[in-house]
Amino acid sequence: MKGKALYVQNSLTRKKEEFTPITEGFVGMYVCGPTVYSDVHLGNCRTFVGFDTIYRYLLYKGYKVRYVRNITDVGHLLDDGEDRISKGARLDKLEPMEVVQKYSNGFHAIMDIFNTKKPSIEPRATGHIPEQIEMVQQIIDNGFGYEKNGSVYFDTIKFANEKKVYGELSGRIIDDLLTETRDNLKNQSEKNHPSDFAIWMKAADDHLMKWNSPWSVGFPGWHLECSVMSTKYLGKRFDIHGGGNDLKFPHHENEIAQNIGACDCAPSNYWLHTNMLLMNGKKMSKSDGNTISPEELFTGDSTHVSKGYSPMAVRFFMLQSHYSSTMDLTDDALLASEKGFKRIQEGEKILASLETNGSGNSEDADIIKNLDAMLDDMDDDFNTPKAISRLFELVTKINSYKQGSLDINSVSKDTLARLKKEMPEFILEVLGLKNESQEGTSDVSEGLMQLILELRQSARERKDWDTSDKIRDSLNALEIVVKDGKDGSNWSFK
Ligand code: AMP
Ligand code: ZN
Repeated sequence: MKGKALYVQNSLTRKKEEFTPITEGFVGMYVCGPTVYSDVHLGNCRTFVGFDTIYRYLLYKGYKVRYVRNITDVGHLLDDGEDRISKGARLDKLEPMEVVQKYSNGFHAIMDIFNTKKPSIEPRATGHIPEQIEMVQQIIDNGFGYEKNGSVYFDTIKFANEKKVYGELSGRIIDDLLTETRDNLKNQSEKNHPSDFAIWMKAADDHLMKWNSPWSVGFPGWHLECSVMSTKYLGKRFDIHGGGNDLKFPHHENEIAQNIGACDCAPSNYWLHTNMLLMNGKKMSKSDGNTISPEELFTGDSTHVSKGYSPMAVRFFMLQSHYSSTMDLTDDALLASEKGFKRIQEGEKILASLETNGSGNSEDADIIKNLDAMLDDMDDDFNTPKAISRLFELVTKINSYKQGSLDINSVSKDTLARLKKEMPEFILEVLGLKNESQEGTSDVSEGLMQLILELRQSARERKDWDTSDKIRDSLNALEIVVKDGKDGSNWSFK
């Protein structure tokens, strides 16, 4: 493995622990994916870019990683008890699976734009209904589930009394759970105890997505899908489980309960949680207008930003916060990140042109110290902001070699070769940052045009005609014509 021992902050034990995979050289990682009932928001992107960087670093170290990230397409209910996907279908007058496809396409397009690697497996909850029914049955058989009027509930009190782990992840005690459990409000009275949660729900006649089961025609509870799909693809016990920290309770707490309830085995050794994205110091939220979509951020079409920012500048901005810290999106912070990212890209360009005669080596120790420190930082719970500060130190050196204030011939040939290999590799492979400035000016325009056309195409696939027309009209005003053909869209100047 590259680098030294890896340490991760385990949310379950609240300790930084040395990471030891169950099978040497292999890592199984499950991350809760999006609920595809509306456009992906930047908060989701923060979480998925965070786990993409973790995935990338594990690969970089040399692990073989099976990365499973699900798509939630059933069972995730709104506070009023309506299924999120069904609501999307009702509002847009679409089949539920059309809603799922539309927003999955949009999600994938944005993930590509942020240069995230695809997971090894991306299972959908509706593709695993028989397995979910099987797990409900196991939970009942083990005495931790009970049926009431066609719905099945998880018996939290019995579980808490017998297994002594309920609340361990979220730090909640059962009395808190009384007031905080929100699922399936309509049927609260059926439960033996208010903190019990539904693992199978009987569907009303007008409910859109429902399946036969031994208990009723109904649908699985949201928490169940992740227990089932992680077990199916990674085994009863695997290495890393991730998600945003808003999922600790009830979702992850209940996942653990279900896994132990069904298989007598807690699912994951290490729980990693990303923190929330804020904007101007407040939680990003659609309801009070404190929100910005990825598209608006890229085009600058929002009152919250003074201009558009490239996807890689936004990714760089995201990596300048540790994944477990809150991240505050402000125009000033974005401007600073854009500038910083440009500096690093320019540094890379200068580095490629540096040559040494190798007559000295007094600079070597400093360069090697920074290269090693970058990996040490990543080994310290994936500390990207610190690793980026090492990159800035290296860039300062590179600029000094170019300007002559430091002598490039005091760098040995081997060390310069190492720097030329490892620095760009780290930026691209680990941080996932594509160099935007190495391309010529015309390539940048072409790249930006392709990005804009991709965004428009994804809006068209979502039948979001307002956005796609707006993009076309704005380009028109810039004397650029977009032509839609069978093989996609093309552009040309008028
Ligand atoms: P959802 O589509 O709501 O199920 O969320 C998908 C993922 O995005 C989950 O891991 C959430 O924890 C995460 N997430 C949701 N909102 C935010 C936010 N504001 N900041 C960071 N992550 C978030
Ligand atoms: Zn989940």
